[in-house]
This record gives sequence, structure tokens and C-alpha cells, in this order.
Amino acid sequence: FKVPTPVNEPVLSYAPGTPERKSLQKALKDALETEIEVPMYIGDKAIKTGKKVALRPPHNHQHVLGYFHEGDKSHVNDAIDAALAAKHDWENLPWYERASIFLKAADLVSGPYRAKINAATMLGQSKNAFQAEIDSACELADFLRFNVEYMTEIYAQQPPVSPKGVWNKVEQRPLEGFVFALTPFNFTAIAGNLPSSAAMMGNVVVWKPANTQIYAANVIMQIFKEAGVPDGVINLVYVSGPDAGDVIFKHPDFAGIHFTGSTAVFQDIWKTIGNNIHRYKSYPRIVGETGGKDFILIHPSADVEISSTAIVRGAFEYQGQKCSAASRVYIAKSLWPQIKELMLRDIKSFKMGGVEDFTNFINAVIDEKSFDKLAKYIDDAKADSSVEIIAGGNYDKSKGYFIEPTVIVASKPDYVTMCEELFGPVLTVFVYEDEKYDEILKTIDETSIYALTGAVIAQDRYAIDKATKALKNAAGNFYVNDKCTGAVVGQQPFGGARGSGTNDKAGSMINLLRWVSPRTIKESF
Ligand code: GLU
Repeated sequence: FKVPTPVNEPVLSYAPGTPERKSLQKALKDALETEIEVPMYIGDKAIKTGKKVALRPPHNHQHVLGYFHEGDKSHVNDAIDAALAAKHDWENLPWYERASIFLKAADLVSGPYRAKINAATMLGQSKNAFQAEIDSACELADFLRFNVEYMTEIYAQQPPVSPKGVWNKVEQRPLEGFVFALTPFNFTAIAGNLPSSAAMMGNVVVWKPANTQIYAANVIMQIFKEAGVPDGVINLVYVSGPDAGDVIFKHPDFAGIHFTGSTAVFQDIWKTIGNNIHRYKSYPRIVGETGGKDFILIHPSADVEISSTAIVRGAFEYQGQKCSAASRVYIAKSLWPQIKELMLRDIKSFKMGGVEDFTNFINAVIDEKSFDKLAKYIDDAKADSSVEIIAGGNYDKSKGYFIEPTVIVASKPDYVTMCEELFGPVLTVFVYEDEKYDEILKTIDETSIYALTGAVIAQDRYAIDKATKALKNAAGNFYVNDKCTGAVVGQQPFGGARGSGTNDKAGSMINLLRWVSPRTIKESF
């Protein structure tokens, strides 16, 4: 069989009067008026433990969207048992039957569930309509459709040579055991991709989303179920990190982890897996996308409008809460006055507030912990006479976790906010002498502990070439004359190395290959 060639899901405009705007507004209204109870999904059961935790929009923390039912270690054990019970039938289902399920899931995401999943992402994670659309409608549908395409290519690959009297075959077996998917708050698409990419390749999954993501995860699970993912193939649990880790990483059938989250948590997980390595049947697959401290470099030959747009969009879309967000910018001195003026013009035009008002560009950061951390960095910058805050600097958590888009100008390239990951709408600029371009390339590479995304803005071809070479290892997704966010599935496979992860490129064949264990079969006639 050949599956239909995928195309990227078109991004709808949500302009006033459009049908998509009307249905999204209705979905938002419905969600705000209905308090829901979100169960865990284990095997064929929807589990309500009675331990209810409120789900609240980050931009309006007094409002309760509903509650999720929190579980404990026993639920993690049950989820593993349910997964292992479903394994035999699932992995023996022909790949094209699994493909059908996930293609149908993509059509549900981009069709009947589009408004609902966008509304859930907007309210649960404080994303504006455009940011929700490119994430939970388009990117999630793209992940599902393109991964099905890559999956068919993987199954079609066979050894090129079978001499006379021999037939050589490769069988792509699912991993022996279960896969653990640990998903972050910031992208609904990632939350859907991590369990489904492993499941597509015939694996069974235990999925734990971030608590701040459960509201949309619940919709994803409804879609998987409606698409026909059999009970037990993907099990969704809400438990603490330690409870999950304690059970999962000690289990002999633990076969792999598909992770997106912080570098510190990933490193801890890696150590825990190492300490338990003697328990497992096979060496587990460890696939993780972690932190970022992503850069934009402006060469003296750069177009100033392109530079300013790349910087403000790269830094402030979704309040800078993308792993790919621009958080450090190096600007040639001769261009700084013009770029500064353009940046300040754009930042001034941004409205901040709740997601229900579609004219708000900036919404809230995800929770109080993140808000407090960002406020502290801003306060420290205010108290430091060596740096200047030229935009923003105010914050307010009385109604929601709002932080103004903030620009700090540092006098040294190793100022703390040029180096540490903040994960919020706080950007730091360092202005370098035009003639020190080569030196700044070296500085960027040396300070890139993370290496997820980066961009160079320049018209001069020699400058572009120099940056591309000098920053070879400083970013897994490198952009020329563009912002450093917004990778599109099927176009720019996403991921980085160094402190940013294992670089197994989300939405690619490389990633799907991590969820199979090939067996070579030689038959002689
Ligand atoms: N893929 C997203 C982008 O290119 C970022 C994903 C993330 O934050 O992990 O902007």
C-alpha cells in the first residue's frame, strides 16, 4: 500500500467574520461555561480517583476550567499492565491498519476537533488563536500525517542485495516492552506526537503530560480513541514525576522514553536509567528534546526590517515559551540605533491580556513558578547598573501571570540572561563592534551550552557562509534571514544536540527509527 502523500495543514486566518473564527469563539465559550472532570485513561477504563486538582487558565487563575483526577504509583503500574496486555494484538496488526488510525486522527484534529483542541490549548496554556492554530491544529495534524509517510518508507526499506539462492529481509520490530512518553506544557502538537510516533511503530505507551497541559491532553486522548487507537495502546496518567519514575524506571519491560522538557529533568532521568540498567531486557531508547538558549546574530550587512521582525517574533511569540525562542541577540553596532527603534515600535504595538480577545498578542506565562522566576531575573537586571532595560520590565500576577515583553541590553556577552535559559518573554541584546564579527561567532559557539536553534541575518554571502560554518554545532535548526522559531513538520525536522537533547529530530524518519528494533532475516533456498 502507498499512503496519500502528505501536505502541510493550511493555517486558517481567524479574521473577523470567518467561519473558523465563529466556531473557535463558540468552542471557547462552551469551554468557559462547562466545568469538566478529566479522568486518567488506563486500558478500557476512565479512572476518577477523587483526588481532584483544578485546571485554571494562566491568564485568569481565578477561573476553574475543570479538574483532573490525580493518580499515584498504583495507577502507573496499572497503566504498564494495560499497555503490556494490549501489546500482542497491536504489534501484530498490519502497519497499514495502524496507519489508517493515525491518518484518521489527523483528519479529526484538522476537522471536527479543530475548534475544540485550539480552544483547549488557548485556555489551558494561554496561547493566542494564531499560536494555538499553528500548534494544536496544524502541527499536530502534520506530525501524524508525515510520520505515517515516514513509517511506510521505513517498512519499505530492505537490504539492497540478495544473491541468487538467498533472500535477505529486514523486519522492523517494535521495542520489546513499553515506551514512556513525557510531554511538556508548551506544545499540544508535541504532546500528541510523543506517544503517537512510538505507538505508530507498533509500540504500547504510558503517557504522562505536564499538569499544565492536561486540559488539551484530554482532547488529544478523545481524538485517539475516536480514531480507533485500541484500549491500552496509549494510557494517559496524571501522577507526580517521582511516582512515575519510581515505577517506570524500575520495570523490566521499560523499553524507551520519548521526552520533551527541561535539561535538568532529562539528565536526572538518564542517570536513573543508568542506575537501573541491569533490570531491563534491552538497552532502552532514550530520546529527548530539552532546553535551549537560542540566538539571533545580526551582521552589519543585514536588512534592518528583517532583523527586527525576526527578533521580536522569535523572542515574544507565545511569551518566549518555545524551546526555540530567541533569547539572546547579537547586533552589529552600526545597525543598533535603527533596529532598536523598529523593535520598540513593534513591542509598543503588542497588546497583552487574555486569549478570548483575539487582538492580544501577548498572553500569560504558564504558571506562578515561571512568573516568579522571570520576575526575579527582571529585578536583578533592574538592580544591576551594568545593564539597561529598554522595553517592558513590568509584571503583574493579580489576575493572570503577565510579564511585559522585556528587552535587556547587556554590556558583556556573558551576562547571566545571555547564558541561562529563562523560558519567557525576556530577551537580552549584546551590541558588538562591526569589525568583531569573527570574534562574536566564536563567543556564540563557546557560550552555546544548549544548541537547539539559531539564526543569522545578513546580506553578505561571505558572512552567511562564515556563520553557517562557525556555528555548525551551536544549533540543530539554523535559520538564515529568518526567525529561529516555527519549524514546520516535513520541512525543517526539529531538534538539537549539546544540552538541547539527543537530536532525534521530531517529525522525521530518524525519530521513528528510534521506536523499532530491526531483525535481519537471511533465508537460503
Ligand atoms: N518546533 C517548535 C519551533 O520550531 C518549538 C518546539 C519546542 O518548543 O519544543 O518553534
